[in-house]
This record gives sequence, structure tokens and C-alpha cells, in this order.
Amino acid sequence: MPLSPDQQAEIDALRSESQPTLRATVPGMEAHLYKAHEVLDHGFIRVIDYMGDDAAICQAARVSYGKGTKSVQNDEGLIRYLMRHWHSTPFEMCEIKLHVKLPVFVARQWIRHRTANVNEYSARYSILDREFYIPAPEHINAQSTVNNQGRGGLLEGEEAARVLEILKADSSRAYDHYQEMISDEGQDGLARELARMNLPANVYTQWYWKVDLHNLFHFLRLRADAHAQYEIRVYADAICKVVADWVPAAYGAFEDYRLGGATLSGKALDCLRRMLKGETVTQENSGMSKGEWREFEGVLNAPV
Ligand SMILES: Cc1cc2nc3c(=O)[nH]c(=O)nc-3n(C[C@H](O)[C@H](O)[C@H](O)COP(=O)(O)OP(=O)(O)OC[C@H]3O[C@@H](n4cnc5c(N)ncnc54)[C@H](O)[C@@H]3O)c2cc1C
Repeated sequence: MPLSPDQQAEIDALRSESQPTLRATVPGMEAHLYKAHEVLDHGFIRVIDYMGDDAAICQAARVSYGKGTKSVQNDEGLIRYLMRHWHSTPFEMCEIKLHVKLPVFVARQWIRHRTANVNEYSARYSILDREFYIPAPEHINAQSTVNNQGRGGLLEGEEAARVLEILKADSSRAYDHYQEMISDEGQDGLARELARMNLPANVYTQWYWKVDLHNLFHFLRLRADAHAQYEIRVYADAICKVVADWVPAAYGAFEDYRLGGATLSGKALDCLRRMLKGETVTQENSGMSKGEWREFEGVLNAPV
């Protein structure tokens, strides 16, 4: 269970109070504030705070005095223009602070995104909970044979059951030993900062993560992508839903130009132009390597 009854009660108490403010607020985001959106078996994301809205992006781009100086349509057009031309600083005027609970091996990928502010739960100071990510049976896959950095078909039957059993038993045994080592009953008790080292990478950690919208889009483009590992992708997908409610125009532009769009090299563009003129272009006469050609075909033949 991602939240204990006490934690849920704290969230309910926070949501029962409100303050008048002159600052811009977004109804869609107010509905998300503090609430935990479950991810994986014990994880979640929840919005702790946010600053700005679609109008704040336009306000910064125009360096104007008020919100939405033109019509909503104009604002949307401006946001699309900014996104299309990689004019990124207006998007940095919006910020979001999330509380995230995630397995350590996911945190390790996540922390590579350096343009955020992070504060993590201290396992030197506190005792970690007995919570480990155990994949659902539909996410226990074999090693991919075509992509060294990915997974192939599902493991089935006895092999899948055995893998799940190993994951559960190892997590449980490691946690038993962790508890045994830190216990001060009849012994000094090992320091928490040392005892944690035997815990596996599927143990859950938590952090507060604050990032501006431009860098959040960069994170989402990489991690909500089909090439990202499933376990981080589901967090990115959950954040995408929140962002769509927060800054609908900016998210719409991001979805169109970044998530749904593609970047073509000069060679690829040249091939596309030759194809449009009716020429038969193949990998052999494209000037592209096999890998580039495969990806180019992937862009052209992507399902619509
Ligand atoms: C599918 C996938 C597979 C990956 N595989 C691996 C892997 O096998 N091994 C591995 O180590 N990593 C891997 N990564 C991580 C990847 O290389 C990046 O470290 C990660 O995606 C963060 O990207 P970033 O540096 O652009 O983001 P951020 O750290 O958020 O930075 C955003 C941008 O700010 C600028 N920036 C930030 N800090 C600096 C700096 N110090 N110097 C210069 N410019 C800076 C850069 O322009 C950067 O693009 C993988 C990522 C993905 C999505």
C-alpha cells in the first residue's frame, strides 16, 4: 500500500484548508495538490506545490504586466511557436514540486537528470520500510535479443514463477538481516548508514523533486518514451497526466512537437524529398547506415 492511514489523514487535513491568494492558480492542478497517484506496487507521485500556468509562459515571453494579455487562442499559438522554435526560457517560469516514492534502481536513472532540486529520505537517519518492487507477472520479460538495453517476450510458466519467488525471497531475507543488524536488543546495533548496504536495488526510497517546466519536458521526452525502461516510464506517464491538467496549452504543444514529433537528419530529409518526388529510396542508396535507416523507417511507418 503506497500510503498508510496516518499519511492519508495528513493529506486529507492539508486538502481541507485553503488560503486566499493573489497568485495564479490552476483548478486542474488544485485538484491534484497533495494527492498520491499510485505507481508500481508501492510507489506514487504527488504534487506538493507549483508555480505558474500557461499564462505565465506567455507573460514571460511578452514581458508583460498581466496574465494572458491576448485571447486564449493567441496564447496557445504563442506557446506552440515557442515550443517549435526551442525558445525554452519562458517555460522555465513554471515550476513543480513533487513527492515521489520509487524503487532505488529507478531513482538511479531518475537522478541522472541534473537540472532539478532533490531532497531524499535519509536512510542514515531513518529506518527504511519493508517495501520492495516485485514486478507484476505481465512485466517479467526475457532479455531482448535485438536490443541489448531492453526486454523481449514474457517469461512464462515455471521460469516466471521461479524468478518471482527468488525476487521475493531475496528481498525478504535482506530486510530480515537489515532489521537484525540495526536491532539494539541485546547488542549495540549497527549504524543505519551501514546496515542499509545489504538492501537490494528494488527497495523503495522517497524524495522531493522540484524542477522547472522546460527541464521537466526534457525529462518526460526521454522517460515517457518507448525506449525508456518500463519502471521509470510509468512514473513519467503519471507526471504527463498531471502536467496536462496544469498547463494544457504547453503540454499540448509538447505532446505534438516533442512526444509525437521526430527529428530528421539532413540525409533523412533528403531521402524524404526524393521519395516525395517518386524515387525509390532504399537503405543502399540512402547514404544512411542500417541503424539510421531502421529508425527512419520507424518514423515513416509509425502507427497513426
Ligand atoms: C533510454 C535511455 C538510456 C540511457 N542509457 C544510459 C546508459 O547506458 N548509461 C548512462 O550512464 N546513462 C544512460 N542514460 C542517461 C542519459 O545519458 C542522461 O544522463 C540522462 O538522460 C539525463 O539527460 P540530460 O543530461 O540531458 O539531463 P539533465 O541532467 O536534466 O540536463 C539537461 C540538459 O542540461 C545540460 N546540462 C546539464 N548539466 C550539464 C553539465 N554538467 N554539463 C553540460 N551540460 C549540462 C545539457 O544540455 C542537458 O541535456 C540513458 C537515458 C535514456 C533516456
